[in-house]
Amino acid sequence: MAKVTFIGLGNMGGPMASNLLKAGHEVTVFDLSKPAVEALVAEGASTADSAKAATQGAECVITMLPAGKHVEAVYLGEDGLLAALPAGTLVIDSSTIAPETSRAVAEAAAAKDLAFIDAPVSGGVGGATAGTLTFICGGEVATYNKARPVLEAMGKNIFHAGPHGAGQVAKICNNMMLAILMAGTSEALALGVKNGLDPAVLSEIMKQSSGGNWALNLYNPWPGVMEGVPASRDYQGGFLVNLMTKDLGLAFDNAVANQASIPMGSLARNLFQLHAGQGNGQLDFSSILRLYKPD
Ligand code: NAD
Repeated sequence: MAKVTFIGLGNMGGPMASNLLKAGHEVTVFDLSKPAVEALVAEGASTADSAKAATQGAECVITMLPAGKHVEAVYLGEDGLLAALPAGTLVIDSSTIAPETSRAVAEAAAAKDLAFIDAPVSGGVGGATAGTLTFICGGEVATYNKARPVLEAMGKNIFHAGPHGAGQVAKICNNMMLAILMAGTSEALALGVKNGLDPAVLSEIMKQSSGGNWALNLYNPWPGVMEGVPASRDYQGGFLVNLMTKDLGLAFDNAVANQASIPMGSLARNLFQLHAGQGNGQLDFSSILRLYKPD
């Protein structure tokens, strides 16, 4: 069992840190939010006054922060963690951020002989709570192998995607496809309902036909069709529209930088931005259905 410091105890990081504790790791936590820290301390974690103090004696540091600017602020610069950590420390960033930001952190970490990987996740809050996340890692194979035992306490599928930043690239591709699938599924259901079809019957037909996909099969966006999904609790909880919009922005910036064409991803980005701009940023992303079914 390892001495792990976990920074960023939000919707994802909180349950991830909790699973590390359940697996028997010695966990120290830090977050800017006091209630988030207190919840983990109540479960047996230690804490400290700052991120730097929380990493004292850590064999492994994990961050789960909202966006690239937070990751840069925590790791880089004279006051950043990389400047303070002893050589050889394992450093894992599971935030979803731009691949180039991950590569910049990896380069700064290598200059300090720290073992860094990007390890963004898929599986949402449900996967974080159940300990069944998919980790998509980028970095040296030796570092990935070192990280696996810690990641296994929080996830079920742990992939090595390639060198530094590759985990982020794979994650961005996956979420772009998810956004397209969710918008397309909403559009098809809304068209059927306009024609008088029952959305549950149409869903069953498409699930058994060539239109079947993850969004339709496991995360139906039409309220009342599927139990236990955000659509059936007024789109509360789940994966926020604001986070999906952020990820589609990462895909767009990456496509521009690489001269890649993403017409479907760009359209999905526009739809989610429009939806977020109408005050839906804090709803689950399957609420994109409301663009097609305003009532
Ligand atoms: P969140 O906003 O719920 O949590 C982020 C936490 O980081 C907050 O508690 C915040 O106080 C803390 N934080 C911010 N700056 C900090 C700092 N400088 N020091 C310490 N703590 C700081 O976000 P989340 O939903 O947990 O998502 C985290 C990351 O995971 C994001 O990059 C997101 O895109 C990605 N992700 C989220 C989901 C999901 O379903 N929510 C799924 C997959 C990936």
